[in-house]
Amino acid sequence: MSVERDMNDHFHDECGVFGVFDHPEAANLTYLGLYAQQHRGQESAGIVCTDGHSFHSHRGMGLVADIFHKSEIKELTGRHGIGHVRYSTSGDSGLRNCQPFSFEYAHGGISMCHNGNIVNAPELRKQLEQQGSIFQSTSDTEVLIHLVARSKAPTMPGRLSEAVRQLAGGFSLLVLVEKRLVGVRDRDGIRPLVLGKLDDSWVLASETCAFDLIGATYERDVEPGEMVVIEEGGLTSFKPLGNDCKPHFCVFEYVYFARPDSTLEGINVYKARYQIGVELAKESPADADLVIPVPDSGVPPAMGFAEASGIPFQMGLIRNHYVGRTFIEPKQSIRNFGVKLKLNPIRELIRGKRVVLVDDSIVRGTTSRKIVEMVRAAGAAEIHMRISSPPTKHSCYYGVDTPDANELMANKMDLEEMRKAIGADSLAFVSFDGMYRAVGKPREKHCDACFSGVYPVAIEGPRSPQLSLLKTFNKKR
Ligand code: SF4
Repeated sequence: MSVERDMNDHFHDECGVFGVFDHPEAANLTYLGLYAQQHRGQESAGIVCTDGHSFHSHRGMGLVADIFHKSEIKELTGRHGIGHVRYSTSGDSGLRNCQPFSFEYAHGGISMCHNGNIVNAPELRKQLEQQGSIFQSTSDTEVLIHLVARSKAPTMPGRLSEAVRQLAGGFSLLVLVEKRLVGVRDRDGIRPLVLGKLDDSWVLASETCAFDLIGATYERDVEPGEMVVIEEGGLTSFKPLGNDCKPHFCVFEYVYFARPDSTLEGINVYKARYQIGVELAKESPADADLVIPVPDSGVPPAMGFAEASGIPFQMGLIRNHYVGRTFIEPKQSIRNFGVKLKLNPIRELIRGKRVVLVDDSIVRGTTSRKIVEMVRAAGAAEIHMRISSPPTKHSCYYGVDTPDANELMANKMDLEEMRKAIGADSLAFVSFDGMYRAVGKPREKHCDACFSGVYPVAIEGPRSPQLSLLKTFNKKR
């Protein structure tokens, strides 16, 4: 396994979006909105601004601060803007797949970006290509632009509604078109999309942490299946997918993806993570001297575990926040090099201690094994691994980059086999009940397919090796 892959033994944030309507500093605000959501995607970023006529766009590979400088922002004129940070989940990761995408069609300019996966995009694309459409990228978003362009509906909301009705999957979508900013959420509300106000301007983002940075106030979450159309006269809400959309919000947002200072679906992410730690301590206590988190997402549950168990909390692992994707590997192999780049134990704290190690998930298990080895080498007398999510047994098809199910440790091994494989003295995961008690919302309102295998939206096309299985699960649900 390469060092890079070793360091990325995690599910990955999919993408983040930000949009602003009618503000003199649209480009600057969009830049900041993306900057705050950089954790949702680090491969590429893009911003499109418009005054309603011409569209001004800049996109690039890398981090927001590296792609946009004063000179680029100055060129992005217009009072309306949308932006996107990307970690590729569909299509390749080259510049041609950077969002937002902008096109001219019969009704003028249109620009779009989305977070998530349109699971029937391959099927729709095939049909469109058979009917003569030509694609510039391999991204799902372009499929949607073609559907809008082909619609015969007389109004823009009508054209977009018609297009959205043909989509299946988990997605949150932003569109700039005809002096309007539009936000759409899939019928299950799998991916987040929040609505805020900055003075008289409306803003949309994947997470509320984007609002905090620009001084906007959070108004509400866009509802599952809702389309909000923001224009000069104000905001109008449509339900293009009907009134019976049932939420299945991604529970992994609370466990790992979202920033802890964000509030999603009315739940603060930090509080949810902390409470999961409390539940873990009640469900799977350990006789130990210290609780140590695997930073960063292990910190709040470790604090909750420490509080509930009365065992002191210590930052026994220090994370290097400046690890990039490119670095020089030593010629001579160094044991656990990849993990050491990112984490370093404080031996003076750990030596001779019985340690509870709290992490958010075990994916392939390679990183967990190396962290346990590292803490053991730092002198821990015992290591009790506690995980703030249930075992990750299945892949995600809704916009999160995940390994194939057969690469997931929990898919192949039972609890005892996993414990042995990572080398811990004990291993426990929070239960589904414990996780939902901590989140404070009912399980049926969430997607937890990567843990349970119960997929709220059936998958079709090449990304669906398990279609028949999924249909069976969905029937049971
Ligand atoms: Fe989130 Fe997992 Fe559902 Fe994907 S499968 S949307 S990561 S809960």
